[in-house]
Amino acid sequence: MLRFFTLCCLFAALGGLSLAEELRLNDYLTVFQHSDHNIVQGHGTDEKTYQLLCDFRRDNLAGTPVELYYIGKNEEQYVADPLGFYWKQHAEKGRFSEEAGISLIPVAKPENAQIVGVAERDILVPQRSRIHVIDTPGMTRNSVSYYVDIDGKRTVFCGNLIYGDGQLVNLYDLQDAMPVPNVGLYHGYMARGLKVIASLEKIKALKPDRLIPARGPVIENPNEVIDKLIGRLRAVYENYLDTSALWWYFPDSMTPAARLFSGKADIQPDEIRRMPQAKLYEKPPWFLEFATTRIIVSENKSAFVIDSVGKATAEHLDKLIADGTICSVEGIYITHYHWDHTGVIPAIVEKFQCPIYCDENMGPILEYRDNFHMPCRDSQEFKTQHFQTMKWHEFTLTSHFFPGQTLYHGALHIAKEGERPIFVIGDSFTPTGIDDYCLWNRNFPGDDEGYLFCLEKIRKMEPQPLLVNQHVSPPFEFDEERINYMVNALKERRKILATLFPYASPELGNGVGFGVDSIWARLEPYYLSWESLKGEPPEIRLIVRNHADKPLSFFVDWIADDGKQQSELLFRDVPPHGEQTQKFRPLSRVPQPGTVITAVVRCSEIPSLEIGVETMVGHSR
Ligand SMILES: [Zn+2]
Repeated sequence: MLRFFTLCCLFAALGGLSLAEELRLNDYLTVFQHSDHNIVQGHGTDEKTYQLLCDFRRDNLAGTPVELYYIGKNEEQYVADPLGFYWKQHAEKGRFSEEAGISLIPVAKPENAQIVGVAERDILVPQRSRIHVIDTPGMTRNSVSYYVDIDGKRTVFCGNLIYGDGQLVNLYDLQDAMPVPNVGLYHGYMARGLKVIASLEKIKALKPDRLIPARGPVIENPNEVIDKLIGRLRAVYENYLDTSALWWYFPDSMTPAARLFSGKADIQPDEIRRMPQAKLYEKPPWFLEFATTRIIVSENKSAFVIDSVGKATAEHLDKLIADGTICSVEGIYITHYHWDHTGVIPAIVEKFQCPIYCDENMGPILEYRDNFHMPCRDSQEFKTQHFQTMKWHEFTLTSHFFPGQTLYHGALHIAKEGERPIFVIGDSFTPTGIDDYCLWNRNFPGDDEGYLFCLEKIRKMEPQPLLVNQHVSPPFEFDEERINYMVNALKERRKILATLFPYASPELGNGVGFGVDSIWARLEPYYLSWESLKGEPPEIRLIVRNHADKPLSFFVDWIADDGKQQSELLFRDVPPHGEQTQKFRPLSRVPQPGTVITAVVRCSEIPSLEIGVETMVGHSR
């Protein structure tokens, strides 16, 4: 068996200069391992040095610079012209609310290098290593793999398709549209897992002796670990479907999705395990519905509005005033920041001169939009007020933190003497289960976080309220049986995910959240206006969330404006399931508009745990 051995070579990689390990496959092809990354480099008959990139991800570019980079032809532009092809557009089009982000896009073309797009059936360096290219989409949409036959052994360089013992580096990068009706990008929970499975099966059919992924250890038992990973991906999806809210929204799409993921083309709806639907109820007469808007009408015809879908809500309120249903709007409560719940809010408050309320955890994303990179975030900014409990005419209104559909989410409890209370939960649950389909919404999996927190909150409410999701017309009820069902399913998913991520085992602290939280480390603001710098280098906040059960420390690695690698242990002992914020001054000069500032945050204790962070400098928008 070939083994890595340590070379005292200078390795200009993520963590600055350090030791690299080297696995020499033949005289012309070598794998350098540095800080969990495997960099495959070689040289051809013309002695030109080259590197094999399976996908565009920025971390693949670590390593000693070479003269030529091979990459799948459909991802070539991300490396050849990342500013023009991606970042410029990203900033100009304000794509800060995208429904499925793309991690680790490079920020610059490697200097003095040639970028060559490759495709299936290409054979690279035919006189020497004879490297075959195959298309293997998965962690990115157009990734490729390469294989070589050396000394009778077949080695596949498979990028981020697999890690170690049948694992994956994260789940959030698999968010995508699904090839079944009505499952778009936003609702496509781990949809590209289907591509991962197909690509792994394709690699298995090559009968490889060894896999060398982009990260982690060399895999000497390919068939076994591929089967393990496919089994785990299917188990996660089966668990996800069990309590999915989408059975309510897209009932016709879920069985095809189950068929695709399970690999069983003839599976019937009654063979798919799922929570029995919750009981439905009628709305009380004082509770009006219009699109995602709900309106509480008091006996004196004052109105309290919950969420606004946009101009149509404003027009509907005018109509209710004109026909005498309501006489005024005295307040607006926003359940969450998504554009379909905050449309034209400034115009409504201008007209009715009423306050905007929300849960205090959501205030920042409504007031400082450019600090955040979250799906469906609205482009408006407005000031909000917060309350815990408020008497409003004959109603008692209580605002709750409710990190359901997204982390920044509230819910409004409405109690009226002698009636069953109503709990308006935004988009967090439907009668069939949980709205956890968008991995970029940050659903934390811990016991006191995310959906488990929300379910325990509902369980403790006395009397049991009727639940209202604004995309679901009838109120519904989660009884003890359904709450237990969902709690058990979520805990079961956490167990499966703990086997899927290399950093989430019990010994390492159960950090499952790192694999489903696309921004466990982030720079704030996400978009920095050049005008606000006033001639000073930027000072940005770097925020790290520790999803493990034990304290962890984190390095930040970045390239300073003198081109030198920097590395600093900026976060010491971030508490379990807690956050730490540090000031971060990555540059000593004022960056020009169009600059993308990036860094890598990596865990000091767990080498497989790292994430890229970024912020853009542009003109005021
Ligand atoms: Zn919504």
